[in-house]
Amino acid sequence: MYIRKDDIVEVIAGDDAGNSKARTTGRVLRVLAEKNKLVVEGINRVYKHLKPSRQNPQGGRLSKEMPISVSNVLLYCSTCRKGVRIGRRYTAEGRKERYCRKCGGSLGFLSKARATYARKDG
Ligand SMILES: [Zn+2]
Repeated sequence: MYIRKDDIVEVIAGDDAGNSKARTTGRVLRVLAEKNKLVVEGINRVYKHLKPSRQNPQGGRLSKEMPISVSNVLLYCSTCRKGVRIGRRYTAEGRKERYCRKCGGSLGFLSKARATYARKDG
């Protein structure tokens, strides 16, 4: 799983998918790594209808995002302004980094700097 909480992703498949004219993006609220699923803000929202109760005398409906498959999203690149395929590389300091395969820009770090992976030259 290369997506982390608070990442911005573009939804490319499923009921909430956008298209090239109107892209659907959202912030990752939760990562369910073992299921390869994500909860994305505003995506795959379902409504639960509630009967009036003592706690909630008005009743009404509660909206809640359900998990979607990680294969339905791409990490959003703010330079390319769309979801992109990502690569992984080590920075000179030995920090694992995600990058955009299209523009080569950094898309955030996946680890702390580790001397083992640091470049010794230069
Ligand atoms: Zn890019």
